[in-house]
Amino acid sequence: NKCLACLKANTLTIATVTGVVIGAIVGVVLRNTRDSWSEREIMYIGYMGNIFLRMLKCLIIPLIIASLVSAIASLDLSLSGKIAARAIAYYLTTTFAAVVLGMVLVVAIKPGVGHAQKNQTLEVDSRNITTVDTLLDLIKNMFPPNIIEACIFQYRTKLIPTSDSQTDIFDFKISTEVVQNTNILGLVVAAAAVGIAIAQVGEEAQAIGNFFHGLMAVSMKITTWVIFLSPVGILFLVASEVLEMDDMASVMSSLGLYFATVCLGLLIQGFVVLPFLYFALTRKNPATFVHNMGQAIATAFGTASSSATLPVTIRCLEDNLGVDRRVARFALPIGATINMDGTALYEAVAAIFIAQVRGVPLDIGHLIAISVTATAASIGAAGIPQAGLVTMVMVLDTVGLPAGDVSLILAVDWLLDRFRTAINVMGDAFGAGIVYHRSMKELGLLNTSTSDISSATE
Ligand code: ASP
Repeated sequence: NKCLACLKANTLTIATVTGVVIGAIVGVVLRNTRDSWSEREIMYIGYMGNIFLRMLKCLIIPLIIASLVSAIASLDLSLSGKIAARAIAYYLTTTFAAVVLGMVLVVAIKPGVGHAQKNQTLEVDSRNITTVDTLLDLIKNMFPPNIIEACIFQYRTKLIPTSDSQTDIFDFKISTEVVQNTNILGLVVAAAAVGIAIAQVGEEAQAIGNFFHGLMAVSMKITTWVIFLSPVGILFLVASEVLEMDDMASVMSSLGLYFATVCLGLLIQGFVVLPFLYFALTRKNPATFVHNMGQAIATAFGTASSSATLPVTIRCLEDNLGVDRRVARFALPIGATINMDGTALYEAVAAIFIAQVRGVPLDIGHLIAISVTATAASIGAAGIPQAGLVTMVMVLDTVGLPAGDVSLILAVDWLLDRFRTAINVMGDAFGAGIVYHRSMKELGLLNTSTSDISSATE
């Protein structure tokens, strides 16, 4: 009976995880039925997944703005300050810990030493990208000159003919090029400013505070509906991705050790370091915590995007773990934007791996520079698929490697991206859980007994 109740409570999570597995199996089976699949066929197979992803993405902007504004506006200012300080301290320490862990592993395992060197490099922008410029850009983006423009994601679609035949007009490839990404970091800063202002203005701003409160409630309602689609959506997303990938056997023979090093680091960070920290600071069971986050972790894996997973993360934390809304809605949107443990670890491992492949010797000064830039690069990476690959240019630049060298790790990046996104999301969730626990007294929740998780879920 207990077992049945447990199954019932976890149906959606189990279904989502099963969706990931079945999607992978479907992808592998389809791959083996034919030599190649055309882009259009892959698009058809991923179609349902894509629609699911679009629904989640559609929730990002209203959710980030409404959650931050309403959470900050409903706290008193000194308490917001304390919660923010705790969250940021957690984000920075755990990110840095992830970087150090990655560096220790890659230096010890040396996956790039003796690696068959490939000489082809990607064509890169001829502009000289330097670390300082990238950092200055990151800070500049925190202050969007136009809120509406900051929300806009813009891409250009081109049709490229795939055959020379003039008669076959249907034979084309669709290529999309991102012209502008949504400036989520800018929106986070702007929303925080609005929240603080509402709290300071008081009564006169109450109506606008209520508006954002209502917007949040509505967004969360829609989130509940979208989450119901996740098992099917994720199944098709994963199936189409598996269908599209390069021949993994040959890729793994050259990049396998690098892949394993990143995965080992991610596992240690997600299943040892963070749970241990959580236990040390809250005295609660980290296994229960991870178990209750299952839905979000599976969604992160399926979408490869922390931002797209944000609605699910908030739901898991509030509904399954009973974390106070004011903390979850404050800490999670910021976490999804700037706190990326998995990405930070990967940036450090990848940069050192590339240096090993290229035979570039690294001294302690280089390692320190890598640790700092990898941390910054993870903060600067947007919570979208493979954003980490782009910001890694900055880490490579610090050790004098060309940006085009990211091509060395490109073949496995789509898969590593999924694993690191799952750890990114776990890092945000653990952080919100810890900050909640440490702030209970100030929040006026004096029920600090160890059973508060179960009582909150009831
Ligand atoms: N896809 C990652 C995320 O959304 C970012 C990255 O490492 O590329 O968290």
